Amino acid sequence: MINGNLKLAVQKSGRLTEKSMQLLRTCGLDIENYSDRLIVSARNFDLDLLFLRDDDIPEYVQDGVADIGIVGENVAVEKEADVEIIKKLGYGKCRLVIAVPEEKNIMNLDELNGKRIATSYPKILSNFFGNNKIDAKIIQINGSVEIAPSLGIADYICDIVSTGNTLKLNKLKKFTNVFDSEAVLICNKNIEQDSEKFMKLKNLIARIESALNARTSKYLMMNIPKTALAQIREILPALKSPTILPLADETMLAVHAVIPSDMFWQIQDDLHEAGASGLLLIPIENMIL
Ligand code: ATP
Ligand code: ZN
Repeated sequence: MINGNLKLAVQKSGRLTEKSMQLLRTCGLDIENYSDRLIVSARNFDLDLLFLRDDDIPEYVQDGVADIGIVGENVAVEKEADVEIIKKLGYGKCRLVIAVPEEKNIMNLDELNGKRIATSYPKILSNFFGNNKIDAKIIQINGSVEIAPSLGIADYICDIVSTGNTLKLNKLKKFTNVFDSEAVLICNKNIEQDSEKFMKLKNLIARIESALNARTSKYLMMNIPKTALAQIREILPALKSPTILPLADETMLAVHAVIPSDMFWQIQDDLHEAGASGLLLIPIENMIL
């Protein structure tokens, strides 16, 4: 489709699909139902979405079939495509770890020397071995890596975990981290040459940043006794000065502030103790700093 639209590749169906679509919607993009189509356009932005297997996305972005793409950093790095990673997106978090049979007592990295390690990530693993001066044999397997030790085709494995349940089911335990991953936005290296597309990309990135800022912040509202103002200001994170409003009861004030989402539960006891009441914590849809 040659129409000057920005072309964004996303995973067709998998762990990143739903969250990627959610992020784009939070960015204000109105996207048609995408259930079984390869390409859909946004109704209110010059953007076409291409739905692809995640493994193909880095190469398609490198070759310019898509201008940008969303993939796990693990895939972006493993495929060694010549693309730029422009933004971490904060979801799809997982870890590539080396795991060993539960009964193995291994303590040091150099105990991996001479072992056979099964993985679907030979490039990342071989970089890790190179950096740590380990001489082990990498056995490449696509899928179901965790059964390799019980089949006798490898001693240990290097695979993605998020909860560790699959490891447990296969009587394996984590030995060491190899790579931390999350979804990333990747970009074709020549995009700047098409100035119109580049403008569209900058606009999209600004929207993504605003959506990500909003995700990590909440809007806190509360009432406090006037006399507690100094103490309350000390408890609140000093991101920006809070908004302070008079109330009908002249001994009281309303205080509003943007705070990091994960901070609320740490400061709420202190706020109560200082006399705050009627605490309201509200999600923020977008935040432009
Ligand atoms: P495709 O059919 O597109 O090739 P896939 O099976 O290779 O899909 P998924 O399992 O959907 O891929 O995972 C997509 C990405 O999600 C991974 O590359 C990784 O970055 C991330 N991810 C997050 N948590 C996990 C997990 N527990 N296991 C595997 N991948 C995870
Ligand atoms: Zn895949």
